Amino acid sequence: MNSLGIKKGDTVVVISGREKNKKGKVLSTSFKDGTVIVEGVNIVKRHTRPRKQGDPGGIIEKPAALRACKVMRVCPKCDKPTRTSWTVVDGGEKVRVCKKCGAQI
Ligand SMILES: [Zn+2]
Repeated sequence: MNSLGIKKGDTVVVISGREKNKKGKVLSTSFKDGTVIVEGVNIVKRHTRPRKQGDPGGIIEKPAALRACKVMRVCPKCDKPTRTSWTVVDGGEKVRVCKKCGAQI
């Protein structure tokens, strides 16, 4: 559990910056840095040199970390960007619920 409110596998939408409105799946989160890496968002191009003969080198595209405060969780149920809250269900288990539709997400 972390205070980002976002975890790996969540679908998020970017709410500010040049990648605004892009949607993707969270590939990893860093609680320490307060950042997330989202599939297909904030792509950076890295030029690589051939490391050995026959290696073509080239350009690698990969998503770079972005501030967790710039993304918002998308509810899989109502498909809207939403904040989540924690609720305790029977048995004492803590689950996240969508503040919009109340679904467990
Ligand atoms: Zn919802």
